[in-house]
Amino acid sequence: MFEKIVIANRGEIALRILRACRELGVKTVAVYSEADRDLKHVRLADEAVCIGPAASANSYLNIPAIISAAEVTDAQAIHPGYGFLSENADFSEKVSQSGFVFIGPRPETIRMMGDKISAKLAMIEAGIPCVPGNGEPLGDDDQANLKMAREIGYPVIIKAAGGGGGRGMRTVHTESALIAAINLTKGEASAAFGNGTVYMEKFLEDPRHIEFQVLADSFGNAIHLGERDCSMQRRHQKVVEEAPAPGITPEQRQKMGERCAQACREIGYLGAGTFEFLYEKGEFYFIEMNTRVQVEHPVTEMITGFDIVKEQLRIAAGLPLSITQDQVTFTGHAIECRLNAEDPKSFMPSPGTIEQFHMPGGPGIRCETHIYNGYRVPPYYDSMIGKLIAHGEDRDSAIARMKTALSEMVIDGIKTNIPLQQSIMADAAFSAGGQNIHYLEKKLGIH
Ligand code: ADP
Repeated sequence: MFEKIVIANRGEIALRILRACRELGVKTVAVYSEADRDLKHVRLADEAVCIGPAASANSYLNIPAIISAAEVTDAQAIHPGYGFLSENADFSEKVSQSGFVFIGPRPETIRMMGDKISAKLAMIEAGIPCVPGNGEPLGDDDQANLKMAREIGYPVIIKAAGGGGGRGMRTVHTESALIAAINLTKGEASAAFGNGTVYMEKFLEDPRHIEFQVLADSFGNAIHLGERDCSMQRRHQKVVEEAPAPGITPEQRQKMGERCAQACREIGYLGAGTFEFLYEKGEFYFIEMNTRVQVEHPVTEMITGFDIVKEQLRIAAGLPLSITQDQVTFTGHAIECRLNAEDPKSFMPSPGTIEQFHMPGGPGIRCETHIYNGYRVPPYYDSMIGKLIAHGEDRDSAIARMKTALSEMVIDGIKTNIPLQQSIMADAAFSAGGQNIHYLEKKLGIH
């Protein structure tokens, strides 16, 4: 195992990584921006290095500053968390070239999955079910493109190979709009991502978002930890996640999970990863792979009793997976509510000082947050200030525990989305389970 690592992130995930390190006896180096001196993990870390001013571009995205922090502290590895540099292939490459271990997949894997076309082609090759459409770049032959759309069937979606964060996509409902839509998406994609390559696939109208967690080591072993349902979304941002996904049978879980694990073996995947699917009418369609730990990893940990972050560290240190597929069992149901510093109605960010904080508790409750009384939420970063996770013997008891925990939780001084989460937990359709990715926006009156 490593002796010391750098945690190249902030907020709740930095604290989560720090806790995993402590359990494993690994020393930690926190790197922080000038706006983040008071972060909880910065105080708890063995060492802390300021890497630049508040703006992420100059601090949490500042590759040379992060690598030199590893150099001056004699650390051996860098954990990127999620967001920031976690899916930046150049970063992972520079980390390795500088003699450190990047805690994540190899740069070529990150690069392949970062391009939607190469990711889709790799998945087709590995036998993962994909959205109808061959995944090849669209050429300039209008007739060929019209023919392809006719074969796929409208509506279709034009997607930029280099797109991300829900940008670089355009849905086309009729043949007359196709050619203009392709040209517009190409133009926007080359301006926004420096890559005008686009492809076409079927647009699924009412899918759910279901994803599989995988882990793969450097000895060619790969396992899956089942699935999560993340269909409660607003503007493509997940709001509530749960595991298992309502209505997915053990046979579906085993079949899809094993396919994902097999794909990891075939592409030589390393570390923790997530295969994201749209799920419609009983079928899974791959949309993307995330090559990092995800915000919603705790729901999987709660039902499997397995620590994904500790496993990331073990894998990166060159150790074999600590469990086999046979040892993975699923117990009960877990739900996660993301907690954001924002107005629950307008969704405007609400940074400021936390005047009072009361953390909920009781059986099955887990609170992942870096906030404390007197902590000032800075205005420069993502508005997520934590996550509340409830585990119960079944979905109803997980919801009941979540409701109790939300009602106990006090965060004064800033606005939070707790009222929104309470209204989702009290919603009859959410209670029934299995809503699609449009449900929350419809409930909020956005559509
Ligand atoms: P990004 O990298 O920008 O997040 P994704 O490929 O993961 O892009 O897609 C983001 C979201 O766009 C999906 O969660 C889904 O809501 C929508 N989407 C993408 N592809 C399709 C499709 N073929 N049909 C319907 N919706 C889609």
